[in-house]
Amino acid sequence: MTGGPTARAHARAMGAPEDLDHCPFMPTYAPPTVQFVRGEGSVLWDREGRRYLDLLSGLAVTSLGHAHPEVAEAVAEAARTLVHVSNLFGTVPAAEVALTLDRLLGGGGQVFFCNSGAEANEAAIKLARRHGGWGRYRVVTALGSFHGRTLATLHATGQPAKHERFRPLPEGFGHVPWCDLDALDAVVDDTVAAVLLEPVQGEGGVRPATRAYFEGVRELCDERGALFMVDEVQTGLGRTGRWFAHQHFGVVPDVVTMAKALGNGVPIGACWARREVAAAFEPGDHATTFGGQPLAAAAARAVLAVMEREDVCQRAEDAGRRLGEGLRALPAVVEVRGLGLLLAAELAPGIDARQVALDALAAGLVVNAVTPTALRLAPSLLVGDDEIAEALEVLARVLGEHERARPVVPA
Ligand code: PLP
Repeated sequence: MTGGPTARAHARAMGAPEDLDHCPFMPTYAPPTVQFVRGEGSVLWDREGRRYLDLLSGLAVTSLGHAHPEVAEAVAEAARTLVHVSNLFGTVPAAEVALTLDRLLGGGGQVFFCNSGAEANEAAIKLARRHGGWGRYRVVTALGSFHGRTLATLHATGQPAKHERFRPLPEGFGHVPWCDLDALDAVVDDTVAAVLLEPVQGEGGVRPATRAYFEGVRELCDERGALFMVDEVQTGLGRTGRWFAHQHFGVVPDVVTMAKALGNGVPIGACWARREVAAAFEPGDHATTFGGQPLAAAAARAVLAVMEREDVCQRAEDAGRRLGEGLRALPAVVEVRGLGLLLAAELAPGIDARQVALDALAAGLVVNAVTPTALRLAPSLLVGDDEIAEALEVLARVLGEHERARPVVPA
């Protein structure tokens, strides 16, 4: 693949500014280190024409790789045909995506489309309150969880440090230690409308739940009359080796939220609920201007078709096994955790994962520091064996240097 000259031409055509420090962006993100202009499969090019291997996929978003031809064609076709009509009217792509998602989730449910993961969770929280009725409005989540940045989903997020600057937050949220059934047992009373959990805590450091925990939560929710809602925004759609990660644990949730991979980068999210639960909503209770519009839904329809045809679940399981084995053999890696192609490599004490990620980027590999001590890898589900081997080679070099320079940390 020769991306260089084309990438430079793209940058020139975009009239991209040279100095990113002077762009009028709000300072919500750290200043970017690289400006990407083009992608294809697992490869990205920056404006200088440098090639990078992308083992992060946005943040677990471009599961079919960049610029997948069938998704690109579906988006182009929708752009030529019908981009948007109001949700006062029906459209074919949204209906087809809803049917496919319901089938992949086992059937018997209904879907609300939105534009992001936070919005999918916001819909789930509102549905839980509507379903719970008077007095049963609280949502319990896990410490270390991440559910979004809107005010409600920020409070649902079990990371108190993120709450402080935004108080007062909407009331009605409580947090319990991760994977601790006794702690949940102690707080789920008749004020609790729902328990909301990720099957693998993504932003919390790629920490999978266990089958016993999910089975226990299902039982507890049934016993106490609370909904069991699963946030699959990062884990859904093949990423972990199942269509949805909770399917590893053999439970059927009442509500499932998803987003990231659904449009392969085109913004679309969804909240699925069992039909009896979804029936708590009435027209006017919830809505969004763009959610499920033909352009985004056409992308999602193409994504789901390619995913089914390419058997991405099996691919994620097989490639995840190979990548996991490779990571375990690297210098300075003390633990590898995750499911399928959502993996974290915990580094030896004294090694700064953020610096490792920066050094990897300088060496042409995109990964990120999911915590100060762990790297996250979430490649395209279509990643090739040669690309996995190349990424491991780069990491071996970068981590080897860090290992040699590592201060001796007392045990
Ligand atoms: N839920 C989970 C599990 C996530 O990982 C994220 C984003 O990382 C979100 C919700 C929020 O999604 P978005 O950034 O699309 O609002």
